[in-house]
Amino acid sequence: MTQMRLVVVGASGRMGRVLIRAVDEAPDLLLVGAIDQPGSEFIGRDAGELAGLPPLGVKISDDALTHFAAADGVIDFTVPQATVGYAALAAQARIVHVIGTTGFSPEDEEKIAAASRHAAIVKSGNMSLGVNLLAALVRRVARTLDEGFDIEVLEMHHNRKIDAPSGTALLLGQAAAQGRGVTLEENGVFTRHGHTGARKAGDIGFATLRGGSVVGEHNVIFAGQAERIELAHKAEDRGIFARGALAAARWARGRKPGLYSMADVLGLAD
Ligand code: NAP
Repeated sequence: MTQMRLVVVGASGRMGRVLIRAVDEAPDLLLVGAIDQPGSEFIGRDAGELAGLPPLGVKISDDALTHFAAADGVIDFTVPQATVGYAALAAQARIVHVIGTTGFSPEDEEKIAAASRHAAIVKSGNMSLGVNLLAALVRRVARTLDEGFDIEVLEMHHNRKIDAPSGTALLLGQAAAQGRGVTLEENGVFTRHGHTGARKAGDIGFATLRGGSVVGEHNVIFAGQAERIELAHKAEDRGIFARGALAAARWARGRKPGLYSMADVLGLAD
């Protein structure tokens, strides 16, 4: 098969730079565009140089549509508002859209679902193999244990992160809810402050820590009477998300339009 031509949007971001390096390292992938928002100070710079590589001959641009038209897929770790716009453009160009962005509102989710009628979208709050495997384990444990075990999701990230709880924490909470046959909308508890009263059986609680340069740590705790089960994942390098995103792009190439998850890509959906 010919090389898959990819555009990285949010090219100057933390993940954008890691993605440019990861695409460059993969012989079956070709970087054909690197997009930043209009007005970005990086427009016109060489994408390779920005990512700490020799020049790649791909200039950072704000013209997404032209680059999408000449690509097979777009890799997107940006902000929700930008991703919703890119989803419409990727649908128009009928190309694969891999979405790693987190923090979507229900309205954003609807727009992305609408775009997936025209293009294959793979969207996940965490693109790593480890976290998706962890989610499958959480679903399994939650299915086995009854409400005698309280479920709490604890996460820590670097001090620049702008949404909470993390997309990964939500993904893990959703896995726990699915395992229990309930919804996170009804059972999720996202804040506790002051006189909260006792914990309700069946709650799925979330706690968020922020600080330093932590790439991402997640613990799912099943706390029972006199025993506790803890499942954990620690990300040490953003490369794990980039590798997962590229695996998703390869998997989605030529697939029929739809909204897919990393569990689909990794064969972990049940
Ligand atoms: P970041 O460093 O802030 O990067 C975001 C980039 O998006 C910035 O370069 C920003 O540019 C750019 N951007 C904003 N609006 C844009 C637009 N309209 N068009 C193009 N680019 C635009 O953040 P990050 O740490 O890389 O994370 C990005 C997202 O990925 C977050 O939602 C994060 O939670 C998520 N994430 C997901 C995973 C996963 O596995 N799913 C893993 C890691 C991170 P400016 O600086 O000019 O605003």
